[in-house]
Amino acid sequence: GEDVRDVRVATIADRPQRRIVAIGSGKGGVGKSTLTANLAVALARAGHKVGIVDADIYGPSQPRLLDNESERPVAEGDKLVPVASKWGVPVLSMGHLVDPGRAIAWRGPMAGRALGQLIDANWGDTELLLVDLPPGTGDVQITMLQRFKPAGAVIVSTPQDLALIDATRATQMFEAGGVPVLGLVENMAGYVCPHCGETSDPFGSGGAETEAERKGIPFLGRIPLALAIREASDAGTPPAASEGGQGDAFRAIAERLAQ
Ligand code: ADP
Repeated sequence: GEDVRDVRVATIADRPQRRIVAIGSGKGGVGKSTLTANLAVALARAGHKVGIVDADIYGPSQPRLLDNESERPVAEGDKLVPVASKWGVPVLSMGHLVDPGRAIAWRGPMAGRALGQLIDANWGDTELLLVDLPPGTGDVQITMLQRFKPAGAVIVSTPQDLALIDATRATQMFEAGGVPVLGLVENMAGYVCPHCGETSDPFGSGGAETEAERKGIPFLGRIPLALAIREASDAGTPPAASEGGQGDAFRAIAERLAQ
């Protein structure tokens, strides 16, 4: 078959100006996909040409988050054309290519090849590609580092100790691969009860910022645990797409990232 290394050469030669930023986390369920979608939407609203590669090929959620689940990418020549979304953010996801109800049990080389097709697509004038990585430090992440070296990485963690320890591992993986960690985001930080208004910290508080300081990694900000975020995400309307509300927290992080 075709040598996977050909893809890398083509990518670098064709698109020297495109920046890739990976969004990673130590474990699943910490809000990595939610953050990726909302950062992209916030950046697009601020005038940036940004696209998303949903590299979470074992559990793709960008099509649902961006409300374009029923779309299918077409191929132009040997390259996929990203799928538009109503939020001004084109996206390519394995969720657009395979039946979302079917489990994918790919081995490393196939997963890497799939990732190559999503990244080395016809991205047109997209200047910044946010790559929603699978959680942890597996095959897809290694392929990403070796073949499509990102300009930087953002790590998402909850304030919880375990998630932080896992985030530290993810951080080490990027640093070992020569990819600068642009910053740490604390998600699900502080819960405001919609009934009584009292704030509580179900997963602790401030842990990610302390950890970031200790490691000399920029702290990009925190996103509260909010019912509104979960509901809007499930409905395919990213909070960052509308003024005020929970979108502000995402916009603040996007601004820091764009600097
Ligand atoms: P990951 O990509 O890390 O696996 P997701 O972005 O899919 O995590 O988020 C997991 C679940 O948590 C989703 O149902 C999502 O809507 C919800 N969620 C993520 N961040 C928040 C938040 N700040 N407040 C409320 N719910 C959240």
